[in-house]
Amino acid sequence: MMQPQVIVLKEGTDTSQGVPQLLSNIAACIAVCDTIRTTLGPRGMDKLIVDSQKRVTISNDGATIMKLLDVVQPAARTLVDIARAQDAEVGDGTTSVVLLAGELLKEVREYIEEGVGAQVVIKGIRTAADLAVSRIRELAVSVDRSDAANFRALLEKCAATSMNSKLIGSQKEFFTKMVVDAVMRLDQEELNEDMIGIKKIPGGAMQDSLLVDGVAFKKSFSYAGFEQQPKAFDAPKIVCLNVELELKAEKDNAEVRVDKVSEYQAVVDAEWKIIFDKLDSIIAAGANVVLSRLPIGDLATQYFADRDIFCAGRVSKDDLDRVCEATGCRVQSTTAGLAAAHLGTCERFEERQVGGQRFNIFRGCPQAKTCTIILRGGAEQFIDEVERSLHDSIMVVRRAVKNQAIVAGGGAIEMELSRHLREAARQIEGKQQLIVSAVARALEVIPRQLCENAGFDTTDFITQLRARHAQDPERFRWHGVGIDEEAVADMYANFVWEPALVKINAITSAAEAACLILSVDETVTSQRSQDPMASSRPAPGHGRGMPMMG
Ligand code: ADP
Ligand code: MG
Repeated sequence: MMQPQVIVLKEGTDTSQGVPQLLSNIAACIAVCDTIRTTLGPRGMDKLIVDSQKRVTISNDGATIMKLLDVVQPAARTLVDIARAQDAEVGDGTTSVVLLAGELLKEVREYIEEGVGAQVVIKGIRTAADLAVSRIRELAVSVDRSDAANFRALLEKCAATSMNSKLIGSQKEFFTKMVVDAVMRLDQEELNEDMIGIKKIPGGAMQDSLLVDGVAFKKSFSYAGFEQQPKAFDAPKIVCLNVELELKAEKDNAEVRVDKVSEYQAVVDAEWKIIFDKLDSIIAAGANVVLSRLPIGDLATQYFADRDIFCAGRVSKDDLDRVCEATGCRVQSTTAGLAAAHLGTCERFEERQVGGQRFNIFRGCPQAKTCTIILRGGAEQFIDEVERSLHDSIMVVRRAVKNQAIVAGGGAIEMELSRHLREAARQIEGKQQLIVSAVARALEVIPRQLCENAGFDTTDFITQLRARHAQDPERFRWHGVGIDEEAVADMYANFVWEPALVKINAITSAAEAACLILSVDETVTSQRSQDPMASSRPAPGHGRGMPMMG
């Protein structure tokens, strides 16, 4: 008898199921973690990543590395997502979050292998994460904002901790000051980090970087008359436009039929009148610095030059928005009815040479809720990494200003949480106890990796730390891996401070990611989704992404 053939899924669909699938996903995640393991902490190494277009990136930032790794394994992509989320949410702790998630999976792997249900493990991880987060809230030290000097010191410590692990670590005094100044200059309610502009100019030394208390942007393309314009004003009258100041020859855009020369002349005259009307209303309003998002043509440039007015066209939207924010004007979309009330001002405007480029700089802005960091430094990849590191620090300082609650880094908080969870596990019955203890072990990955990257004797450090924390949790609460001391040390006293929120977010996201991966027992890969451009790409498995494990 013929058996009827039942095909539910297309041929070639990957359908491993249940525990083997879980284990293979865990293995893939661990493999991804292993690649960024060595970048953690002040003695961490950087990664040099070459993408498919042969662009080179050197980075120590977890989120950046994860993004560039081009991970293809679907479960392991979750790790890329949590790194990115951590970056967007709190800015720092991106390597830690991935490491924690990987280690959680590694620690619970044996239970999965022994047949403990994934849902049981998930519940245990969630319980442990909740316990850990409430413990961080209990322990976090808050600093009184009313004491300005103390508060500033706190912010500088937090910024320095996030810089320790980066290329700019050696210059951290210089940069922490810059970052804290920059954040303090923002509107303290909004703390919008977009209001800190970062401009990069290759060349020069890192220490030539400068903070402008206002807006600075690169000189845009300009026409001949530009050089006759004045390049500096005290108390300038600034107008920001979204208006094209170019002579439009309508004959280019439309067909104009004329019978007489005089009619043609009328058309030309009208065109000239339109632009002169625009220019005259700008001048009548009293502006002497004219900025526009749209081009400013040669005619307008010369017209302004003759009247001692500075102009710049094709200014980017971010820059123009920041000029408005700083000088108190609004972008005008027409010149009709332009009046003195629409103009902004600041203490001084000047065009200045920085490195090989000319910059328009607006200083001493009355509404100054914005500032600009001009970065200098050798190679382009180098400045890019400096920018990423500053971004981490800016976000950290911003978080610290918002929450004012900090914990000690260097693995101290993780050791304390680990101890707390171990103790709490004793009160929990059943298999959950095992899982909570597993999470406690997983948390030790941070101090362990910090040691390993610094080349210390890991076993020695971890046992010592464990013993101290168990012995007297009060007294040794903030003891962690003292990188500079090359010994177990009080990280709080050593000012290795981090915003509590960075740690809370890292633990919650890592737990969520681990739970997500554990809740998947089957991946159905349809052929099309796997390879949408089958014809235009080389055969799968040719040097794309991580090797598939399992
Ligand atoms: P992430 O991307 O997770 O922020 P980093 O490479 O920036 O990774 O490393 C951060 C870790 O380094 C944190 O756990 C932090 O506490 C630790 N750390 C920073 N400075 C020091 C220091 N001076 N001594 C010991 N640990 C430090
Ligand atoms: Mg960091």
